[in-house]
Amino acid sequence: MSKTSPIYIDTHEQLEAAYPNMKRCKVLAVDTEFHRETTYYPEFALLQIYGHGQCWIVDPIVLKDLNLVWDVLCDENILKVFHAGRQDLEIILKESGKLPLPLFDTQVAAALLGLGQQVGFGNLVQRLLKKELAKQESFSDWVARPLRAKQIEYAADDVIWLMPIYQFLYDGLEARGRLSWLYEEQSKLCSLETYQENPESLMWRVKGANKLKGLSLVRLRALAVWREQQAQKRNIPRRRMIADEPLLEMARRDILNTEILSSIRGASQGFVRRFGSDILKIHDDCRHIPENDWPKVSKRKHPTEGTGLRLELLDTLLRLKAEEGDISATILSSKADLSELASWGKQCAGDEPDVPCLHGWRRDLVGHDLLALLRGDIALSINPKTGNPLIETRSIS
Ligand SMILES: [Zn+2]
Repeated sequence: MSKTSPIYIDTHEQLEAAYPNMKRCKVLAVDTEFHRETTYYPEFALLQIYGHGQCWIVDPIVLKDLNLVWDVLCDENILKVFHAGRQDLEIILKESGKLPLPLFDTQVAAALLGLGQQVGFGNLVQRLLKKELAKQESFSDWVARPLRAKQIEYAADDVIWLMPIYQFLYDGLEARGRLSWLYEEQSKLCSLETYQENPESLMWRVKGANKLKGLSLVRLRALAVWREQQAQKRNIPRRRMIADEPLLEMARRDILNTEILSSIRGASQGFVRRFGSDILKIHDDCRHIPENDWPKVSKRKHPTEGTGLRLELLDTLLRLKAEEGDISATILSSKADLSELASWGKQCAGDEPDVPCLHGWRRDLVGHDLLALLRGDIALSINPKTGNPLIETRSIS
């Protein structure tokens, strides 16, 4: 692995000089460093790019005009490699207005090759490249200037080692015919909608929202939107505006006035003084929202008789298929989805449940067989010769 020292870019001239070399690459490994502990919007502190044996470290704090960088990262002919890129993408989208497509996420790819779900970058480097990455800089201050040599080295390592990881995973996916799985899994990551907040998604993010219903949930939705706007305006984390617990409590109360508001744990005197009248108005206004504009709550159906036993069988089949396919069972299906399927399987009547394991590549790998098991078309048994579980096709009698 070539390791020429990284080029630090904090002037427009340096960026102009690097630009044609970046543009020449077919694949670029990309990472960002940022802070978001004390702010609503992440503070964009560093952008690392690696391709063709060269690492570039772009300083977005000193260098304000990054248009050339966005031109490279949003070039349709260059594949961008990230590890767990969700937050990197959020920053790039906010700064450039675009998503850096096409992309390849090594965390997603690793999961599809049975290397574990949400595996960390250092862990992958260790297992696949037998190299230990320095850990001590992961909590360092990326906003301070000048950056220390050690910090720059650490930041560069994040993209330098990402490239061989990408090559390993790409080859693995290609060899197993799973590249199309990756594109399917990444589709949410690559969709603009994922990054747009809406009132419902803000509401569901409040801890305990699922315990509310009816008008309480209407109020929580309105209060969550209000909190988000206030946090954005002040650029502070939403929970510093007001924590989840008091927000939930305000929504839960059918009657709210200044006195009751002041008695809610977590609503400080200062908060009530400054925002009390806003809160009371929002709370009251919700009464006039017609019922068909209330948040939709999917009704949880009662499991049918025998669901628990069918679930055990489905789960055994799922684990067998996972082992056979070198993939973790948890990425194939969640327990809740499997349970829904098990409940439906009492009669297998009507539409199949809309669960991920019955869609796309998951259906091919395991969904088909789960349905076949429920319909009695296949059976699970033990091979008496090997003592191992066996999936058998049942002959129709
Ligand atoms: Zn990093």
